[in-house]
Amino acid sequence: MQHSVRENLLRLKGTIPQAVTLVAVSKTHPPDRILDAYHAGQRVFGENRVQELISKQPILPADIEWHLIGHLQTNKVKYIAPFVSMIHSVDSFKLLAEINKEAKKANRMIPCLLQMHIAKEDSKFGFSEEEVLAELEKNNLSAFSNVIISGVMGMATFSDDEDLVRSEFRYLKSLFETIKRRFFAGSDTFREISMGMSGDYAVAIEEGSTMVRIGSLVFGSR
Ligand SMILES: *Cc1c(COP(=O)(O)O)cnc(C)c1O
Repeated sequence: MQHSVRENLLRLKGTIPQAVTLVAVSKTHPPDRILDAYHAGQRVFGENRVQELISKQPILPADIEWHLIGHLQTNKVKYIAPFVSMIHSVDSFKLLAEINKEAKKANRMIPCLLQMHIAKEDSKFGFSEEEVLAELEKNNLSAFSNVIISGVMGMATFSDDEDLVRSEFRYLKSLFETIKRRFFAGSDTFREISMGMSGDYAVAIEEGSTMVRIGSLVFGSR
């Protein structure tokens, strides 16, 4: 039986600790379904494509916090910089520099997460541990005046093997701790671990997630 978005959302919220942010992933779902979630109290929504995000944002309530969670090309940053609340999918410092430039133009600070490659599949985007540490080392972080490097994001292998998924989330948490200790010690802005989707969010929360990105369990299957 199909449940309403409101019912789905309320049931889901009962399983997520207050301290963990729920990003309701609304990709492919029409604005009226997003409004159902909005009227049930949800304010943070995630989209994975720029085109879809910029078509929805102007026709939905202005107090929605839009998170971009999918791959972002540098030439599209300008379209979302004026309003986006967080970008989860920063996978190069070239992209981070572009976000910084467009944020400055828009007179904004944009929170960004470093997307890490943690899954076995090689199709997913993201930094390796070596790459991210090397980039953080060689870039002058204080030059990024209009982005807030707020944490890390990762996607586990799409698998029923809970031990595998758990080990990948645990690895992301350890990467977060390493980066924080080496580059953001004493700052409280580096604090988010965005991990967990409909199929694996409970494991992600057990392993220290601070943000879960959930689509199907809220809006139904795509
Ligand atoms: C689609 C998507 C999600 C949500 O997936 P569900 O399985 O529907 O919960 C989370 N993160 C990213 C990056 C996505 O593209």
